[in-house]
Amino acid sequence: MSRGPDAPHDVQVGVASEAARRRTLAIISHPDAGKSTLTEALALHAHAIRQAGHVHGKAGRAGVVSDWQEMEKARGISISSAVLQLHHEGHVLNVLDTPGHADFSEDTYRVLAAVDSAIMLVDAARGMERQTRKLFEVCRHRRIPVITVVNKWDRPGLEALAVLDDIAAATGLRPTPLNWPVGIAGDFRGLLDTRRGDYVRFTRTPGGASLALSERMDAATAAREEGAAWAQAQEEAELLAVSGGEHDREAFLGHESTPVLFTAAVVNFGVAQVLDALAELAPAPTAQRVTGGGSREVDDPFSAQIFKIQAGMNPAHRDRLAFARIHSGCFQRGMTVVNARTQRPLVLKHVQTVFGSDRQTVDEAWPGDVIGLVNATHIQVGDTLAQAPVVAFPPIPAFAPEHFGAARALDLGKAKQFRQGLAALDAEGVVQVLHSDRRGHGEPVLAAVGPLQYEVAVHRMAHEFHAPLQIDPLPYSVARRVDTRHATLIDSGRGSELVVRSDGQALALFLDEWRLGTFQRAHPDVELLPVMGAD
Ligand code: GDP
Repeated sequence: MSRGPDAPHDVQVGVASEAARRRTLAIISHPDAGKSTLTEALALHAHAIRQAGHVHGKAGRAGVVSDWQEMEKARGISISSAVLQLHHEGHVLNVLDTPGHADFSEDTYRVLAAVDSAIMLVDAARGMERQTRKLFEVCRHRRIPVITVVNKWDRPGLEALAVLDDIAAATGLRPTPLNWPVGIAGDFRGLLDTRRGDYVRFTRTPGGASLALSERMDAATAAREEGAAWAQAQEEAELLAVSGGEHDREAFLGHESTPVLFTAAVVNFGVAQVLDALAELAPAPTAQRVTGGGSREVDDPFSAQIFKIQAGMNPAHRDRLAFARIHSGCFQRGMTVVNARTQRPLVLKHVQTVFGSDRQTVDEAWPGDVIGLVNATHIQVGDTLAQAPVVAFPPIPAFAPEHFGAARALDLGKAKQFRQGLAALDAEGVVQVLHSDRRGHGEPVLAAVGPLQYEVAVHRMAHEFHAPLQIDPLPYSVARRVDTRHATLIDSGRGSELVVRSDGQALALFLDEWRLGTFQRAHPDVELLPVMGAD
């Protein structure tokens, strides 16, 4: 383990133990599976908030989390991610919110670059839905261990074994239930703890706004109290145990299995069990690979990576917040770090935590924590900030865009603002700005993972950079990395176009998979690589 020459021993011990008790995770799910409800329920159980309020004021209770942007309010969705820090039995849980809307954007993916594990939330009646699958693929790609939570068990739905089959088929992971529902979907009475063999029974509280009552009892009592429902749960749990469904830490961390828990977040059933599982199973921050070989240990000098930049979070201040995930060392307000990309020093003075619109100044933070740098200049998504010895973490992958549009300035007198605005949006990762020789500098191609990114770009170009633009959709849907020497070939084809990212990487755009296939067959010597693949 390399140690900073000046770091006193007790600081390193402090860093190691602070890192060890941290769990940094995101919840991935399809819209409506109950992510906001579960997030609030977790906060309620960890005593971060007194009463769970439904998001977006749906049920007339207090709105929570990430309602800060006008657009979010107007559309009732969350565009950007908030960070929620919970304390549970000596552990610190950093829960990074991911936008849940179907029009999700690259932000969702980037959040997954900043976590050590993920909760995959599945609606018991619907099983593995499209967006859950997409997000799971990112977890697989980045080797993020996944804990599965099957929610809405208070509603009629599939059989528990069928839900597990669906999860196994969609993810290729072996489900290892930590608990098993007693009572069929729609008649959720409690949970059989598969490792202890005992029973936790829940009783609803009106409206589910406060903790559900729970009582733990042994198997014999459970059998007496719940009769056939208990017998069935026990039988199914035993069946799973003999067919390899027992939790195994190595298999979980090695992305071979996924622990499964059952909940009804809306009535707070099974939520305490999720917190316990996170504390027990979710991995703590570990050493991170650095560019050029080697790694940064958690107790090495401070280092962090910017994974998201959010502008306009506070309309009154027109500010810009860069979110950094700490990988090593102790953050102390006022410290000087170096941006590894620019080699410029930066004093970390204005640093905040953000939970929705609620902000607090941070004086100290540890590996696994997320800090928000207010109005830090010359910072891009992917940048590493570090104290000597300065290292750089590998860039955050640029995800495969699926939507493309040609941008046109509506006010030709604002050419400079148009250029500068787009450069800023590109650096923040709001959209990818691609240069096309065919179209020239006046008409860059904007690429996005979700079309919502365009709305943000249009809004900000008009209001913040005063260079209104129009985005005309282009018919492409598939991008591949390619060498620029094939530019002419790609540009001369019908239904394909060559564009170049700001990092110099060329992309070949195709109308669809079919056109891509046709091109590839005609030119087998042209290497076309997935955008996310080897990044
Ligand atoms: P999100 O889009 O994933 O954030 O989902 P929400 O948390 O907004 O929940 C979507 C809907 O499902 C809301 O009407 C919730 O009240 C409801 N819901 C969430 N969890 C449960 C649950 O455990 N049981 C039932 N019956 N409804 C739930």
